[in-house]
Amino acid sequence: MIQVRDVTKSYRAGDRTLPVLRGVTTEIADGDFAVILGPSGSGKSTLLYLLGALDEPDGGSVELDGRPLTEMPDAERDRLRRDEVGFVFQSFNLLSNLTAVDNVLVPLIPAGVSDADRRRAAELLTRVGLGERLDHRPNQLSGGEQQRVAIVRALFKSPRYVFADEPTGELDSERGAEIIGLLREVQAESGATVVVVTHDQRYLRDGDRVLRMRDGVLAD
Ligand code: ADP
Ligand code: MG
Repeated sequence: MIQVRDVTKSYRAGDRTLPVLRGVTTEIADGDFAVILGPSGSGKSTLLYLLGALDEPDGGSVELDGRPLTEMPDAERDRLRRDEVGFVFQSFNLLSNLTAVDNVLVPLIPAGVSDADRRRAAELLTRVGLGERLDHRPNQLSGGEQQRVAIVRALFKSPRYVFADEPTGELDSERGAEIIGLLREVQAESGATVVVVTHDQRYLRDGDRVLRMRDGVLAD
């Protein structure tokens, strides 16, 4: 369960303060496929970064499974982010000098990469249609292919929480639907809680939990 209570966040630019989140409160149940909709600049990425423990709120609290992120010791928050959270960045964040397989394995490097990890990376990439692209570098891949590598990287450790920031942003609608389909499959298979941020209503389905971001607050 993700619990967000009265979260506020402002950015300072020079001597001005820009309030972005003005008291966001919501709950997302385990195994939900939640979609956050909102116009550009409404604070969707800011909120997703807070859920993924990549940034801290100014006020309020975010709890994953009853564990308040802001009150955790740094080491525990790092562990949670590493082991339980898969984050798909809007800009992919792939390393340009590494192959598709190596990009998937990057988060494992601190602990060491085994041959079994390497095989599993190749298997997962093959499953999303990149079997012929395992040794391609990002500049040899299309936007949709790069996005699939970024998603496989985020899903590699079977995280309990998957946060995807505009994963369909740069894609045509067919590729976009494929990416959302892939996330739905993961959610159905692993029971992960998935939160997707998008401005595109076309990918919504009956049964999705839909949250709308407007004027710094969130409404169902
Ligand atoms: P969205 O993802 O919905 O497009 P964001 O969460 O990225 O919105 O940004 C919300 C607002 O906060 C925007 O107006 C953006 O310009 C501003 N903003 C985001 N990040 C920063 C930052 N690091 N410093 C200053 N302003 C920021
Ligand atoms: Mg954004």
